[in-house]
Amino acid sequence: MIALLLVAQIAGVSANIPAPTFIVVRDGQLTTSVPVTINNGEPSVRADVLMKAMKGMLITGTNLHFTLALPRARMDLIDGIPFAKLDTLTVPLTRAPQVRGGQLYLPFQFVSEVIPRYGGGYSYDVAQGELRTFASTSVASAPPPRITPSPAVASAPTPSITPSAPSPVRRPSVNKPPARKLVVIDAGHGGPDRGMTGPIGTSPWFTEKDVTLSVAMKLATVLRARGVEVLMTRTTDTLIALSDRGRIANSNHGDVFISIHCNAPGSNTAAGAREHGFETYFLAEAKTEDERRVQDMENESVKFETGANAPKGDPLSFIITDMAQNEHLRESSDLAQTIQQGLIDVHPGPNRGVQQANFAVLRGSYMPAVLIEIGFGSNQSEATYLSDQSNQRALARNIAESVVAYLAHYESRIGGAR
Ligand SMILES: [Zn+2]
Repeated sequence: MIALLLVAQIAGVSANIPAPTFIVVRDGQLTTSVPVTINNGEPSVRADVLMKAMKGMLITGTNLHFTLALPRARMDLIDGIPFAKLDTLTVPLTRAPQVRGGQLYLPFQFVSEVIPRYGGGYSYDVAQGELRTFASTSVASAPPPRITPSPAVASAPTPSITPSAPSPVRRPSVNKPPARKLVVIDAGHGGPDRGMTGPIGTSPWFTEKDVTLSVAMKLATVLRARGVEVLMTRTTDTLIALSDRGRIANSNHGDVFISIHCNAPGSNTAAGAREHGFETYFLAEAKTEDERRVQDMENESVKFETGANAPKGDPLSFIITDMAQNEHLRESSDLAQTIQQGLIDVHPGPNRGVQQANFAVLRGSYMPAVLIEIGFGSNQSEATYLSDQSNQRALARNIAESVVAYLAHYESRIGGAR
């Protein structure tokens, strides 16, 4: 939807805008040069230097969060996450902002496209490499001013301010003992929420909640045998609220959250009945019709929850609103990739790839989190395959191997560069 449009626009434009060796920030007659540095072939600009030139401010929050406080707009960023949050709008970036040597660097695209579009009164002149301030009243599409250009420090929400002098960037604690790893396994649906039933065209004999529980139990067995601690959100045929599944994972300090589900097509037609294959989701805004279909289907479970206050997701703003989850976006994507890859060897397929969607069940878990659609219970032969105990064991074994590999990889990265 909107997110997709923005991606297309930004990706399309940025390919054509060359990066100069420095940007001139012009405010009337006043100009300031901001160097463009190249890292791994990618042009970027130091955020604090740019903010100073723009009479704005870089605010360093906790956990790799930053706010660019411009005179007429605020933008929130997270180190390593390719999104910017502006009020309720989430803007995808072609490159993630990165902290290097204690400094936040913004991708050049941020200067050439995002600031002109959302910064509240700037234009970028490609030929001159110049970022210009507009006359203050001429910006129709700019977001409403949210801060005043006066010494805005007092109203800043976060404690530590980064002026141009470098200050150490706080990293999340990496001191947790490497030994204990807890994988939270979530068998989709349960109790009155049966999930999908199938196959299409027969009287239903395949029930998602039973198959997910069976595979989840087998996955737990394999992981425990590999020395990994496991917590299951349910071990019986019970209903657990989607929001509680994440909460269970958080309160037990899980390292990874895996939700297991079975898929169904959008329509009960003959064409729908032919849909089959496996896919793994991580938490992000759904971008395609198919991703949205699965997202809506799995989020349906909320209607079985008795408390009418089940969380309603804001489709766009969740990404950065829930800061804790966002730090795990990249990790979740890696985990999804690893699991999906591992399933290729065992699943008859096809491999439908790694997908992204805004699942309520993943939203509440503050750790790398994925949702696996192990196959279509709506498809006659896949329903048969998924119901077979030895096939379930094979799926569980390969998922477990991927999780173990991911945990080892994650450990080495956390212990290394950071
Ligand atoms: Zn499901």
